[in-house]
Amino acid sequence: MKLTRRKFTVLAASSLALAQDSGRKIGYCAVGLGRISGIFMSAVKLSSQARMVALVSGYREKAEKIAEDYGIAAKNIYSYDNFDSIADNPEIDAVYIGLPNSMHSEYTIRAALAGKHVLCEKPMATSAADCQAMIDACRKANKKLMIGYRIQYEPVVHAHALELIRGGQLGAIQTLEGAYGFNISPRGATIKGVNRPEFRVNRALAGGGPMMDVGIYALNTFRYLMGEEPAELTSSTSVIDKDGRFNGIEENLVWTMKFASGAVASCATTYGGSLGPYFRIVGSKGTLQCEPSWNYDGLRMTVRMQGQAPLEITNPERHPAQFVREADHFAECILQNKEPKTPGEEGMKDMKYIAELYRLAGRKA
Ligand code: NAD
Repeated sequence: MKLTRRKFTVLAASSLALAQDSGRKIGYCAVGLGRISGIFMSAVKLSSQARMVALVSGYREKAEKIAEDYGIAAKNIYSYDNFDSIADNPEIDAVYIGLPNSMHSEYTIRAALAGKHVLCEKPMATSAADCQAMIDACRKANKKLMIGYRIQYEPVVHAHALELIRGGQLGAIQTLEGAYGFNISPRGATIKGVNRPEFRVNRALAGGGPMMDVGIYALNTFRYLMGEEPAELTSSTSVIDKDGRFNGIEENLVWTMKFASGAVASCATTYGGSLGPYFRIVGSKGTLQCEPSWNYDGLRMTVRMQGQAPLEITNPERHPAQFVREADHFAECILQNKEPKTPGEEGMKDMKYIAELYRLAGRKA
């Protein structure tokens, strides 16, 4: 069986909720027009709660082409220099920050000062101090701050894992394993004729290597699935390929986390080869094996409970559904004055653990 009847009902009901029009739509402004912003904008096109109304880019011609694709008025194209004048544009309710990691804090703070809510990509920033400054700025401006942990909004596979773990059906959780990595190219993306070298291999822009980018998935997923914080950490990094890509960042990072319950997690991330994404969780009454676990779609999990036939669960929703759910959730939070499920505090916790993992691995500040 691919999907239990109950799960299918949950999915159908939540799809229905997405289709209901609440009347007013939240206006998003995309900051940075790279790969992830392209995905986010395509998702907002499918949203019933939000619409794209503005763009921020350093390349006017590229921004004009993208504005045309999304029916965005030329007057709503901003540069990084005149970004602060979004304050005068009432069509913009919220900004979506799809910039290199080290720029998240500056643009979150400037957006809050301009009176806009902020949906910021993961990782939240490159230091816990910057995370705190982002939280403070949004709080002071009375604006909402959400971090784009899209996987926490996935309604079938991850929601089922959460239910089995938190509901106790899997028994006492013993071990968790998770891994995500890929072989990185320094070339970066070319979008509408503009190329930017890969920011992920630039320490000043990325703040670190694969841990910042894809390692964070195992860290965040295990924290929220367990509903516990890791109490003890170990960490080790290495660089094997001396080809210029890893001059300021780790190529590989493996780490362990011991939760207060005694559950132990072992995790790995790399920019040196294709790894996962997968996780495996062993409880005293059953096991979960999820692969792929953090892709944009096609997620698949096998549940093996003692004395029962294995159950395979897949999410039939197609990309960019996860981003539609994320964009809709934040729009709903703004419209109904609710706290986002993944607020700035959640992003800051991950950032503190990542800083500790780097410290344990002997990284120099
Ligand atoms: P990207 O390189 O494709 O896009 C970055 C954008 O920032 C580009 O438009 C670039 O022109 C702009 N930019 C502005 N100033 C820049 C500067 N000084 N140097 C480099 N670029 C500059 O990157 P991306 O893959 O879209 O990633 C952006 C953010 O989104 C990162 O924080 C990343 O972790 C996150 N992300 C999240 C997911 C997810 O699934 N949630 C997936 C991919 C990326």
